[in-house]
Formats: sequence, structure tokens, C-alpha cells
Amino acid sequence: MVILVVGGAGYIGSHMVKQLSKAGKQVVVLDNLSTGFRELACYGQLVVGDLADTVLLERLFREHQFDAVMHFAACSLVGESVGDPAKYYRNNVSNTLNLLDVMVRHHVRHFIFSSTAATFGEPEYTPIDEAHPQAPINPYGASKLMVERALQDYATAYGLNSVSLRYFNACGADPEGVLGECHDPETHLIPLILQAASGRRKSITVFGRDYPTEDGTCIRDYIHIEDLCSAHALALQALVDGELSGALGFNLGNGQGYSVQEVIDVVKDIVAEDSCELAVEEGERRAGDPARLVADATQAKKALGWQPQYADLITIVRHAWAWEKKLARIQ
Ligand code: UDP
Repeated sequence: MVILVVGGAGYIGSHMVKQLSKAGKQVVVLDNLSTGFRELACYGQLVVGDLADTVLLERLFREHQFDAVMHFAACSLVGESVGDPAKYYRNNVSNTLNLLDVMVRHHVRHFIFSSTAATFGEPEYTPIDEAHPQAPINPYGASKLMVERALQDYATAYGLNSVSLRYFNACGADPEGVLGECHDPETHLIPLILQAASGRRKSITVFGRDYPTEDGTCIRDYIHIEDLCSAHALALQALVDGELSGALGFNLGNGQGYSVQEVIDVVKDIVAEDSCELAVEEGERRAGDPARLVADATQAKKALGWQPQYADLITIVRHAWAWEKKLARIQ
């Protein structure tokens, strides 16, 4: 099977490429390296290029007989999307349509799409299942929902079958230590806390302690990158085998929430084993952060046979810490 992984040099894409390669699939990575890293695309054939480049897309699809496409290349910063929505609609929507159109032209009918919990907006209830209304409150979530919507019509009109996977909080790192999270700038909680512990950052700031949760800090559903990728692999196989068709969407999380304070406490214990400490500062709420985001992933488990292997936060943090120590050169 030959698979095109768009955004395969990024955090989630690179772990996906590794899993696919290890499973014997042939992988071509298309990445413009705007937020990805050449070094992370070490398991596939890397083509540096952009989805806006339709000539390149045509050539790529002529050169390879792709069986399926996985799409991880998107802008994903909520705050940035509010200030520069054009960037989000152009890259996340318009460029994705370029990709879908070249797939249709070349009769490639299996598509896995990186979507997000941000398509749900402010939760009306938790855990959030697939029946929850999708009402995004920022351009990032809106841009992802537009693609989900387009995929329904592409399935009906062109027979392009897809699975959109809505991530809650992707985190952790390759258990073998080869890959891990690298964002510049880093905005995510776990890598930021770990950088504060390794000394690559002065401190971690807690964004608000006045939320309506047990300890006042926000609750999120942290899902290990390996589990996230295994759900993609299962979804792809189900499409290829014809077990799933149409345009489907599944929520991916562990169904268990941890508060920012709980994450900090787990990290403190783990980094203490390496004699590292953590400075914590108090900050204001970050705009647009719901108090509690937890997934109901029952559907993904049922339809895909998915079962998370690394659901506990301690394992997630241990893998992420091993990667951070590598970056910070801590023995
Ligand atoms: N957070 C925090 N300090 C930081 C970064 C994040 O307190 O420096 C909080 C943030 O407000 C949210 C949670 O950690 O409640 C997870 O944030 P992240 O950006 O990792 O993921 P998000 O849930 O926004 O996708």
C-alpha cells in the first residue's frame, strides 16, 4: 500500500509515518516544513512542497499510485487564527480542497483527516460524543469543520470516503525515543511544563485558577500520540477494506480529564527522579479556553476496534520527558 502523508514532518504526522512504515506500508511525505522538521520525516520519502502548489500535486499523483492520503498539514494555533483568519481559511480549507480535488481526479478514494475538538466550540455537555453540536468559536475550529462538511459532499458526489478524527489533547512521544513533540513557538501545556523542568524555559504559567472545576484549573483529555496514530491506522484499514464508507467523524480521547494542576503534579514527581524542579507562576485565563474538554470515544472504539494502550498520564509524561531530556541534553 502506498500512502501520502501530508504534514508528515510535523509532530503527529511524523509519528504516523513511523507507525505506517513499521507496518510495512510505503509512505511519501509532503510537507512545506513551515512548522515541520526535516529530521522528523525520517521514515518516509520526503517531498518538500505546499498544498497551494497544484502543479506539484498533479505531478506527485502522476508519479505515485497512492492508495490513500492522510492529511496532517494545518495551522493549529487558536489565538493566531483569531488575529489572522485568512491564513487559516487559505491553508486549512482552500489548500485542503486542492488536495481533495487532485485525489478525485486521480481516483484516490481513501482519506484520513486531522480534525479537532475545536469544531465543537463551547461544550454543552461532557464527555463530548459525536452527537454534540459542532459550533466552533474560533476560525481554527471553523476551518476544520468546513473541511469536515466538504468531505460529506465529496463522499456523496465523488465517492471519496473519509474519516475525520477529532483530537482532544495530543501529547506524549514515541516510546522508542526517536520522535517527539517540537513546536516553535511551543504553546502546549505538557511540553511547556517539561521545558520549564529541563531548564529550557524559566517557568510554567497556569492560565487561570478560577474555573468551575475541582481545583479551579482547566480540565483536558490528554491522549498519547501512539494511540492517536493507531486510531488513524485502523480507520485507514477500515476504509481500504470497505468496512467503512462515506464521510465519518470520530472523537479521540481517553475519556478521562486531568486538570492543569494535576498535570503539573504528575510532571513534578517524574522530573524529580532526575533531580529537576519546576517553577510555577500564576497567570490570567487564556481567551477562548473552555473549563472542561473531555472526549467520549466510544464510537471510535466500536467502529474501529480502537483501544488506547497508553491511557495513563504518568506513561504519557514519562515518554514526553524522555524526549525533552534528549532535546535538553540531560543524561
Ligand atoms: N495551559 C496553561 N499554561 C500554558 C499552556 C496551557 O495553563 O502555558 C493550559 C490551557 O489554558 C489549557 C490547558 O493548559 O487549559 C491545555 O492547553 P494546550 O494549549 O496544551 O491545549 P488546548 O486544550 O488549548 O488544545
